[in-house]
Amino acid sequence: MSKYIFVTGGVVSGLGKGITAASIAMLIKAQGYTVDMIKFDPYFNVDALYLSPYQHGEVFVTEDGGEGDVVLGHYERFLGQSLTENSNITSGKIYSAVIKRERDGAYDGESVQVVPHITDEIKRTLYTLNRPETDVVICEIGGVVGDIENHPYLEAIRQCRGELGKGNAVYIHITYVPIIEMSGEHKTKPTQNSVKELQNIGIQPDIIVCRSDEPLDDGAKKKLSLFCNVDKDGIIESVTTDNIYQVPLKLHEQSFEGVALRKLKMEEREPKLDDWRDMCTRAEATASKEDRLKVAVVGKYVEKTTAYQSVTDAITTAGLLKNEAVDITLVSSEDVEKNPDILSAYNGIVIGSGFGARGFDGKIAAAKYARENDVPCLMIGLGAQAGIIEFARDVLGMTGADSQEFTPDGPYSVVCSVDPPMLKKGAFPTVITPGTYLSRIYGEQMVMERHRHRYDIAGIYEQLFLKNGLVFCAHSPTGVPEAFEVSTNKFFIGTIFNPEYRSRLLTTHPLFAEFVKVISLGKA
Ligand code: GLN
Repeated sequence: MSKYIFVTGGVVSGLGKGITAASIAMLIKAQGYTVDMIKFDPYFNVDALYLSPYQHGEVFVTEDGGEGDVVLGHYERFLGQSLTENSNITSGKIYSAVIKRERDGAYDGESVQVVPHITDEIKRTLYTLNRPETDVVICEIGGVVGDIENHPYLEAIRQCRGELGKGNAVYIHITYVPIIEMSGEHKTKPTQNSVKELQNIGIQPDIIVCRSDEPLDDGAKKKLSLFCNVDKDGIIESVTTDNIYQVPLKLHEQSFEGVALRKLKMEEREPKLDDWRDMCTRAEATASKEDRLKVAVVGKYVEKTTAYQSVTDAITTAGLLKNEAVDITLVSSEDVEKNPDILSAYNGIVIGSGFGARGFDGKIAAAKYARENDVPCLMIGLGAQAGIIEFARDVLGMTGADSQEFTPDGPYSVVCSVDPPMLKKGAFPTVITPGTYLSRIYGEQMVMERHRHRYDIAGIYEQLFLKNGLVFCAHSPTGVPEAFEVSTNKFFIGTIFNPEYRSRLLTTHPLFAEFVKVISLGKA
């Protein structure tokens, strides 16, 4: 039977609850246990299909085609483990399941209510992760205690402790402990109030993680322990760090996972954290480097820093691998459209994924700039489609070449609907063409990459592109082109799939590793 750790948030949102949940999962895994993770999001979108990246950051795609928000990517990268479509569940999904059951007549004449029907559905979902092979399930509840929307989840997890038994469930509450500048004192009252609100629901936290900008003094810890009814070793501070990778190590120094494991009556072991520590040491060493690589990520959701989180993490970790500091700037494709020369400030360019016409011409302009000036350029999803369209128009002279997404009946549909039309989601095999640059990068002939697109690169023009120097270097098993390269350039590669979803903190995806390597070799 699996044991459960429930993570809730209090006081304010945006405290890094997801990173804390991912940290405890990583630390427990580092002790040799098997873990799984689930996040409940209290909004009514059934999944992330129509969710704009402006809302919750990038849409992350799991191997089995599940879609979740940016936190799911952090979970996978911290754990170094693939999750599933069951790892991110929204209220939309929970309520849909209950309403469907009601329509199927399964409630036997009862009136269907939040308690017990919605809460039962939440618990049913949670218990699907209860498997013999999983030691600990970490469950994060989105939102903040006191929100109307997450109340059913809190009620459900309250019931879980009774059902699972006391030593099988632990509650962690993450709060904010502000400092009042005038007195320099930590203020514990918001945390006390948040815990009181949890207690009102019937949940007594076992551990409180106090986010703060400065280390907590002993007096504040004692006060929190006393008023919140939590053992002193369960008051854990989480001081703002230079980078998120340091968070688990700082928590481990206070025996964060040890306290949780003791409460779960599990044996504490020496965690294997050498690789993680090595990564943090590199991050610290590169942080102060003067000589820095500059990479532009061109896209349209640039106002939201997490809109390309997996891409920026993949670039950063690729840099750490080479002991290079990489400064990443999200550059608006609309700005590039107005003036492509703004890209001259960067050593490398990534053109990102996206949906819809806004900013697409800027992506085409970015691809043209990179190709003509031989700036290392990785094009992903819509970025790759822009690269193909630009090449068709400017090199092959195919005036009006476009994607069917934007010009359904154009003269040259070099990007056309997936056949049969659908949103292709999740991991699919890709066959790499032997002898290409891509095959040297991957070192494998067949790889599994994650997709999320409705349009594909058209195969009918393959020979024409090839004659003009653009090689389709990967295909689906049925022969649909999935990646291209221009070998006369240092690095000019486009992929219809999203390699960033597979990049991990400790094992960077080879495409990003090569991209950063090429940039670092070519820097002035
Ligand atoms: N909008 C494009 C499509 O649906 C590209 C999607 C993406 O960037 N992955 O094919």
